[in-house]
Amino acid sequence: MLAPYAVHVERSRGRRFAEPQHPYRNDFQRDRDRVIHARAFRRLEAKTQVFTRRHSDHFRNRLTHTLEVSQISRTIAGALELNVDLAEALALVHDIGHPPFGHAGEKALDAAMREHGLFFDHNLHALRIVEDFEQRYAAFRGLNLTFEVREGIIKHSHDYDAGEHPELAEYLLDLRPPLEAQLIDLTDEIAYNTADLDDGYESHLLSLEQIREGVPIFESYFRDVERIYPDAPHKLQFNEALKRMLNRFVEDLIRNTQKGIREAGISTLDDVRRHPKRLAAFSPAVNAERRHAKEFLYENLYFSPALSDEKDDAERVVRELFAFWLEHPEALPRNYQEKASEQNASLPRVICDYIAGMTDNFIFEQYDRHCGSLRE
Ligand code: MG
Repeated sequence: MLAPYAVHVERSRGRRFAEPQHPYRNDFQRDRDRVIHARAFRRLEAKTQVFTRRHSDHFRNRLTHTLEVSQISRTIAGALELNVDLAEALALVHDIGHPPFGHAGEKALDAAMREHGLFFDHNLHALRIVEDFEQRYAAFRGLNLTFEVREGIIKHSHDYDAGEHPELAEYLLDLRPPLEAQLIDLTDEIAYNTADLDDGYESHLLSLEQIREGVPIFESYFRDVERIYPDAPHKLQFNEALKRMLNRFVEDLIRNTQKGIREAGISTLDDVRRHPKRLAAFSPAVNAERRHAKEFLYENLYFSPALSDEKDDAERVVRELFAFWLEHPEALPRNYQEKASEQNASLPRVICDYIAGMTDNFIFEQYDRHCGSLRE
């Protein structure tokens, strides 16, 4: 059962290239499956979320993070009677444009591009992956996804200015995205705020005491858990408290979004789009808790001195490889050389596209081959 303000698949604006209907999958289910079968999706497995493979195979990588976002998004979309298939497709595709090495890699790639008056943006890159770089079908380039999935890729986390991005005009930049897309940015945060506490604790970069002291909402649940399971090992008490915190965020997002929908008198998808602000939101109290947890993670984990060496390595690898290919475009793979020689092509953009698609493993190999060893 779908709410009247959900995206109804039979009212989709459709694909760029018309295709016959599938006998037993609707268009959003098909888009979800196209994302899962994409090469760029498989490569998420070897891209850093926060911790690189050097730490442990237990920690999240971009693929397992993506699966968690998808799980949470389906739950929330279902509870709000939104289109679960669309929410799932959007969650699965939301990080597909991320370069290797997590945030450090993104920063370095953007910095390299800015020297040429350009920039790197992972949402715009994701759109180019699904529109152009993925090649699976003989009839067209890209995955030929429905309008609503492409729109969600662009609009889930960021409002682009129509004046600055005339190339995105078709995505209704002056309107809000559907709720299915609005959810994704918030589910992403729920997923990583809780998962990064988990991986941070497991990695011993964060201690239980530190988390209890620094994240009040975690502490209040931890006290409950200690009362209910006084003899459980710390790790299980930790898990129980973290699970309660995750549930609190999810439930608040559902309730508060329902409240916003009710109070704004939303009854159609068009109402969602024309509402002056996004309706998917946490309540002010939970929003403050979420921000607090995020700030704690920035201060104590993301900027931890223990991770700074590998961030420095990441920035160096991206920076030096970018400079290398700029000097030696003949060392690029043949298809990238061809792209660079097309009319109006920009060599920095071609190099950026190449690097952004790489996994952590592959970019290290390239570095070894072209720039020598990191540790000499
Ligand atoms: Mg994400």
